[in-house]
Amino acid sequence: MTLADDIERWTWHKGRFEELFGTRDDGRFVERWPIGKSLAVLLSFDMQADVDAAAGWSSHPNAFWDSGAVNFCDASMRLYDAREGLARVLRILDKYHAPATFMFCGMTVEWYPELAKEVLGAGHEIGVHGHRHVKLCNLTPDEELEELTLATNAVREVVGDRPLGWRSPLYSVTDRTLDLLRDLGYAWHSDFHDQDFPYVLTKDNKPVVEIPPGHDDWPQYLIYTGPGSPIMGGNPYGTSDGVLSTMKAEFDMLYEESRTAPRVFNWAMHPKISGRPYAAAVLDRLLAYIVAHEGVWIATANEVASLA
Ligand SMILES: [Zn+2]
Repeated sequence: MTLADDIERWTWHKGRFEELFGTRDDGRFVERWPIGKSLAVLLSFDMQADVDAAAGWSSHPNAFWDSGAVNFCDASMRLYDAREGLARVLRILDKYHAPATFMFCGMTVEWYPELAKEVLGAGHEIGVHGHRHVKLCNLTPDEELEELTLATNAVREVVGDRPLGWRSPLYSVTDRTLDLLRDLGYAWHSDFHDQDFPYVLTKDNKPVVEIPPGHDDWPQYLIYTGPGSPIMGGNPYGTSDGVLSTMKAEFDMLYEESRTAPRVFNWAMHPKISGRPYAAAVLDRLLAYIVAHEGVWIATANEVASLA
C-alpha cells in the first residue's frame, strides 16, 4: 500500500470539518463586545440526575454489576446533583452574583421539573443536554432526530421558551447533529474543543454559534467510571488544590491575553461532581479570585452567542 492509499483510508481530513458542520468564521463578537469588559467567564453545568444511570445500557457500562444486577451505588451517586449538588452550586453562584448556563436532559426536566424551575428562579438559563443522556453517535439518523426533538420539547415545556443551546451527552455530536439543531431553531452548540473563543458555523445560510465547553470537571476530578467500578468510593480523586491551581492558571493566562483582545474562559461542570463539598470549595475560591479582577464579565452562553 502506498502512503497516499493509506491517507485515503484515514477517518479524518482537513476540510471535512467545515464540509460537515458549516463554514467557520469569527462572527462579530469582538466589535459587539460590551465596553469595559475584557474577559468573559462562562460557567456551565450539565444536569442529568439519575437519568444517566437509567440510560446505562448505552452510556455507562458501570450501571450494572458483572452479574447483570443494577449497580445502585452508581445510580445513587448520579442522583447527588438533585439531592445536594445543585443547591450547593446555586448557593455559591448567588454569593458572587454569577449567572450560569445549566444544560438539562429532557428526561431530567420531566422527572425533576422543580429543579429546572429553581435554576430559572435563581436567574440562570437552561440549555439542552440530550433527552435520555445516551450517546448520539450510537443512534440511527431517525433515532437521533427523535432524541433531539423529544429533548427540545421537554425543555420547552418546562422553561416556557424555545431552548437556544445544546450540548450532546458525553460530547457525542455526530455529523448530523448540527443540521438537526439548525432545523430545530437552536442558536448555539457546545461540543467542540478547538478554540477558547466562540465562533460561527454557517451551512445553507443558517448560522450556529459554537460555544466551546472548555475544561470538564469529570476528568479533572478523575472520577473513574469503568465497567463494574464502584465509583465515588476508593477512586483516585483529583485534589481540590490541583483543580483550583489549574483553573487559576487558565484564568490568569486568558486574563493577560484579554488586555489586547476579548477572551473567554469556559468551564463545563456537573453539580454531581462540582457540587460535592471538596469540589464546590474550588468553585467558591475560584469565583472569589475571579471577581477580584477588573473587567471580568461573568456571562451566560445565550448572552455571548447573541453577540455573534
Ligand atoms: Zn452529560
